[in-house]
Amino acid sequence: MFNLILFGPPGAGKGTQAVKIAKTFGWEHISTGDILRAEVSQGTPLGLKVQSIMQEGHLVSDELLVAIMESVFLNNRAAEGFVLDGFPRTLNQAQELDKMLLKHGQKVSLVLALVVNEEELVKRLLKRAQEHGRDDDTEEVIKNRLVQYHQHTKPLIDYYIEKNIYQEVYGVGSIEDIFNQLCASIKP
Ligand code: AMP
Repeated sequence: MFNLILFGPPGAGKGTQAVKIAKTFGWEHISTGDILRAEVSQGTPLGLKVQSIMQEGHLVSDELLVAIMESVFLNNRAAEGFVLDGFPRTLNQAQELDKMLLKHGQKVSLVLALVVNEEELVKRLLKRAQEHGRDDDTEEVIKNRLVQYHQHTKPLIDYYIEKNIYQEVYGVGSIEDIFNQLCASIKP
């Protein structure tokens, strides 16, 4: 089983590339943001709990995210691989992911980071707000989401560098060029 983490700040293009990678390699694309948004739009108890946190651009609790990931894994036992998009986002989530994978005789195979400068990120997120009406893409919330990334998620880079499974791809350019560079780094 190949467990790929697609890493990067909000707006780096993780979602777009994760879909293409999953399709190409026949793996499951797991976007925790999509899972949470589905819960919110269905008005489930979980959705009601996380709605305001997401609207403000804060992170949902590690406990909830780890529970979600565990059930995703258990429900997809036959998968040949996973593309994780938006998870892990904290050191604690990364450590819990490792523990969970180890329990199933697995590990994170590769972390591919999309590198995009801050100015470009804000531009893309504002455009996405206009086009898709995501209510966590307003200017103030975008700032908050980037702060969360710098405070909680970016430190994961060192965690994965130490494990020798971290690689970067420059995330500005055409979707196809970036996709080809990502694919060149994936050796299942
Ligand atoms: P995304 O679509 O990945 O940008 O996620 C949208 C929002 O969902 C984030 O701003 C968080 O509020 C929440 N979220 C998604 N994934 C996680 C995670 N791994 N940990 C905490 N919160 C998350």
